[in-house]
Amino acid sequence: MKLRRQQTIARAIEVSGFGLFGGQDCTLRFQPAPENFGIAFQRSDVSGARPIPAQIDFVAKVPRRTALTDGHSSVETIEHVMAALAGLEIDNCLVELNAIEPPIGDGSSMHFVSALLIAGRVEQNALASYFEPAQLGRIDADNGQSIVAGPAEDYSLGYELDYGPASPVRPQSFHIEMTPAVFLREIAGARTFVLASEIEGLRKMGYGQRATTENLLVFDGQGVQGNTLRWSNECARHKLLDAMGDFALCGGRVRGRFHATKSGHHLNHDVARRLHSHKTETSRVRRAA
Ligand SMILES: [Zn+2]
Repeated sequence: MKLRRQQTIARAIEVSGFGLFGGQDCTLRFQPAPENFGIAFQRSDVSGARPIPAQIDFVAKVPRRTALTDGHSSVETIEHVMAALAGLEIDNCLVELNAIEPPIGDGSSMHFVSALLIAGRVEQNALASYFEPAQLGRIDADNGQSIVAGPAEDYSLGYELDYGPASPVRPQSFHIEMTPAVFLREIAGARTFVLASEIEGLRKMGYGQRATTENLLVFDGQGVQGNTLRWSNECARHKLLDAMGDFALCGGRVRGRFHATKSGHHLNHDVARRLHSHKTETSRVRRAA
């Protein structure tokens, strides 16, 4: 097994825009962080807000996105930031933001990835910690969602999307052996999507008031509205991006084989929880030995 060192970024860098759900203006600042700090999010607009560790124990239950709270402050829709950091194997970073949601950009992770690459990655002394499934197993959730996971030396991830014959999003799948180069080329640019039929309901709840077909792929019976797909299976790639960001909430780098079918944030969080608890078990066993 290859030993890899932890990484942070060489200097702070900012990304500005507005949030997808709430539409607030936001400037997000990636800051370098010391070894073993992990990833944490901190609100600069909430007085007394402390860094919230990007770990499964701090996940708040909100629909359609991943949110963290420590009871005092919260951040929402962090999954594309998490995917960017995990994809580039950045272990330690303080993500400061002056609103509840990061900028949505074009709906993908690319605006974060570009900023992180400009900042540059630096290796630290401590070794990176890896989390992997203890054994081959399958987790099922409602609506036919499932994730099959098993241990492996590397990180491979597959996603199968099938919303049925009536959906404007055609059944599609994608599978990758994850490395930073593959993430950058095949995943980072895959954008968020929504069905045209869902938009009215979301807007009534006050969501997505500033979203347009430029930062959201909108599918109706004709296909994608006012935009062009980057890949024919861009939706499956985006769901894979979301899963990757969510799995990283285990609190370190992920390794293993994962095959997700129609999985959403909730089921992805279950996987992160299991990865997190397995890590705890293995370190306990090692200490006892
Ligand atoms: Zn997403």
